[in-house]
Amino acid sequence: MNMRTETPLKITRTTALPLSYKLPEGNTVRLGVGATTKRDAIIVRVETDSGLIGYGEAHPGRSPGAVVSLINQTLSPMIAGMDPCDVVGVWNRVNRMQLSSHGMGAGAALALSGIDLALWDIRGKAAGMPLYRLLGGSKRRIPAYAGGISMGFQAPESLLEEARGYVKAGYRAVKLRIGDTVSDDIRRVTAVRAGLGDDIEILTDANTNYRLSDAQRAMPALQEARVAWLEEPFSALDFGAYRAAARFAPQVPIAAGENHYTRFDFARLLEDRAVSIFQPDLSKTGGITESLRIAAMASAFGITIHPHSSATGINHAASIHFLAAIDNGGYFEACVSKFNPLRDMFGQTFTIGTDGCVEPLDKPGIGLDIDEAIFAQFPAIDGPGYVVTF
Ligand SMILES: [Mg+2]
Repeated sequence: MNMRTETPLKITRTTALPLSYKLPEGNTVRLGVGATTKRDAIIVRVETDSGLIGYGEAHPGRSPGAVVSLINQTLSPMIAGMDPCDVVGVWNRVNRMQLSSHGMGAGAALALSGIDLALWDIRGKAAGMPLYRLLGGSKRRIPAYAGGISMGFQAPESLLEEARGYVKAGYRAVKLRIGDTVSDDIRRVTAVRAGLGDDIEILTDANTNYRLSDAQRAMPALQEARVAWLEEPFSALDFGAYRAAARFAPQVPIAAGENHYTRFDFARLLEDRAVSIFQPDLSKTGGITESLRIAAMASAFGITIHPHSSATGINHAASIHFLAAIDNGGYFEACVSKFNPLRDMFGQTFTIGTDGCVEPLDKPGIGLDIDEAIFAQFPAIDGPGYVVTF
């Protein structure tokens, strides 16, 4: 038998590249987190001594410059020389030296997520396998919902017209933004349910903008409209509100996770039995390595994973690979934002079928052809991507 031992690769340099796109004047979308002014993304490039390069995406966390600095100044030297295939080792080192002691909390999780995605890209390229296969999955069809920054606080008629467009494109599920006034929220959800009929799934997202009493008031109408989930009614830190809401909301499952970091936050949600749908973001919660752990824990509790998605095709493609490889995967959040060229800068990473589903890419690693020349079209603009509207 021919046993081949390989010399491990070495990480030589890790670089964070911030990109921005300013929305054209008058094209803001209003939602519970504020009004959008620009889209930001951070591409993380990990170089190896073999010349193999992996690309990941870190969420900008409303302060892209801070996350970029953390990666370039602190984490790049911390992981230099390590084996890029040792995703658990890199995760542990960054956790011990930045995330869990004198670190930047969520900011460190964002940075680590981008690095971890790039390492999985390298692993796949080194193995010559698309990520879904490397993760133990298969090329299956993944249901997708129309999400991203869309269907905001608008008049019910315009909202219905927008939602109808996505259904026409193939989507069988749409996500509406709530967290405005409860009465306006109810008007919008009710109008969209009446207009779309019974066969389309309606999801709602309050973007942490509800008080407990708002959620209690909205719940009967959401139930009446057969809403499939109420996402992030409260701040991710307010574990008590989630516990309290779970008692009066058995008919509309409560979803959360895009602002929960690492398996330890999700373990708390499991202990509380307060949230029945998990939405970790691969570019926020600690990458693929950590999202696999979160999915495995949730699987034992009958909880489905519907990952939140970030800005670019790197996160989108990785999320679809991930969903194709876990046993409790739900929807892919398809970004249908009108103004997000960062989504398309590496070509199309998903195509919605007439069955409302998407499929993972087939090239090795995350599966994108990345031409860095395109980055010049999106010069970074530091600062938050949302402005206050309340
Ligand atoms: Mg959300």
